[in-house]
Amino acid sequence: MLPSQRATLVKNIAHELGFAFVGIARAERMDEEARRLEAWLRQGRHGAMHWMENHFELRTDPTKLVPGAKSVVSLLYNYFPADDSLSREAPKISRYAYGEDYHRVVRDKLRTLFHRLEESLGAAIDGRVFVDSAPVLERDWAKRAGVGWTGKNTLLINPRAGSYFFLAELISDLDLAPDTQIKDYCGTCTACIDACPTEAISPEGYLLDGSKCISYLTIELREAIPAEFAGRMEGWAFGCDICQEVCPWNRFSTPHAEPAFAPHPDLPALSPREMREMTEEVFQRVFQKSAVKRTKFTGLRRNIDFLED
Ligand code: SF4
Ligand code: SF4
Repeated sequence: MLPSQRATLVKNIAHELGFAFVGIARAERMDEEARRLEAWLRQGRHGAMHWMENHFELRTDPTKLVPGAKSVVSLLYNYFPADDSLSREAPKISRYAYGEDYHRVVRDKLRTLFHRLEESLGAAIDGRVFVDSAPVLERDWAKRAGVGWTGKNTLLINPRAGSYFFLAELISDLDLAPDTQIKDYCGTCTACIDACPTEAISPEGYLLDGSKCISYLTIELREAIPAEFAGRMEGWAFGCDICQEVCPWNRFSTPHAEPAFAPHPDLPALSPREMREMTEEVFQRVFQKSAVKRTKFTGLRRNIDFLED
């Protein structure tokens, strides 16, 4: 089978499994991206996310993750909800966390992709799959694989469908025809920079101070949220979607068709007041399978209380 035929096979199976966009890059060292990451870490823009300093070599060289790797398949899985009412009134929840934890949902899809490929090719594949995994520079791979560009908000933007996607990868020894990168279509737009309430995006864009981002403050930060952010959270209690909401490319977002991403039936029924008064019992019920569980009840309570102080 030719590399181009193999690439088509991978894409067809991935599309059948629900991945919206699939692109392929050669598994090469990421020298430029490594330099950028090093500078970003040196400037302390990762806040208290010290784990980001680990695995530097693994991140920038795919053959360290999969010896003999030839290709990186980058896959986008849509999570844009048909009903986004949980993101409209405080305390707001980021759209990606409405339903079941995407790590499990997307990883299951990736495993199925892997096995179906082995079946179709009639041979074992040496490879690994990743979703939101620390040692992989997911956005950079997606860019190299031509499924989008990195916007000024530092998110991956697909020109046909915006940025509400989970990113995933298959790094393997499969020889696959690579795709070409696409250009940056941000142009003169500065909507995300202007709208960010904590000035986490640099004035020129393309650089995020993670330690100021509401997603970091509400999810990653274990200590108290610094007082300087009081009154600037815009109602977000878990994550923040502002720089996606204002991005003109997200007018092309279409609702996902993934049943696992539907919220727990009791969640949309909660009034903003009931959300604000959430008890541990309600938390455990409505977020039992969601990524929101990451903050634990105490973390979400801290975030909600911070909004009201
Ligand atoms: S997620 Fe929110 S806080 Fe973070 S950069 Fe985007 S707009 Fe700013
Ligand atoms: S809001 Fe504008 S500048 Fe920001 S990522 Fe979207 S297109 Fe680019």
